[in-house]
Amino acid sequence: MFNAEDYVLLYRETPLDTLRKAVECRDAACLIWPHYRDMRCNGGVGRGRVKWKGRDQFVHVVVCEILNGPRPPGYHASHSCHNGAGGCVNGSHLEWLPSEQNLALNRGRPTKDKKLNPVAVKEIRAMHACGLFSHGEIGRRFGVSKSAIRSVLSGHNWGWVE
Ligand SMILES: [Zn+2]
Repeated sequence: MFNAEDYVLLYRETPLDTLRKAVECRDAACLIWPHYRDMRCNGGVGRGRVKWKGRDQFVHVVVCEILNGPRPPGYHASHSCHNGAGGCVNGSHLEWLPSEQNLALNRGRPTKDKKLNPVAVKEIRAMHACGLFSHGEIGRRFGVSKSAIRSVLSGHNWGWVE
């Protein structure tokens, strides 16, 4: 006799299936972790947890590591959708940001001293590559000094942004 419950159990998406989906996801919509969620976090409905490489970890951190390399010191996995506490694990919504900047973004305003972010860094590189702008001009566009632009272009700062 066919047992429907066993069938569901047998074919249910496992945490690793969803993890793979999250890494490959390019959707604008959030991908909400359907498995175990940590309800204590940030007063939200909970961030996803997964057992990965033998450790119980936050799913969004694991996804960010797989896509963007190891977490640079002082950085957080930041959700561009601001839906971390809501359980989003969509890899295309995640990037490493300096923790201060991440907190500022979550409050909806940039900090004074952290004017750059990975998107700005890519724009700076593109502006430089086209050869039409001086370091000073690029700096004025982003509200930072010439030397800040130089350290971005040399990879001294933000070198981990691909
Ligand atoms: Zn999201």
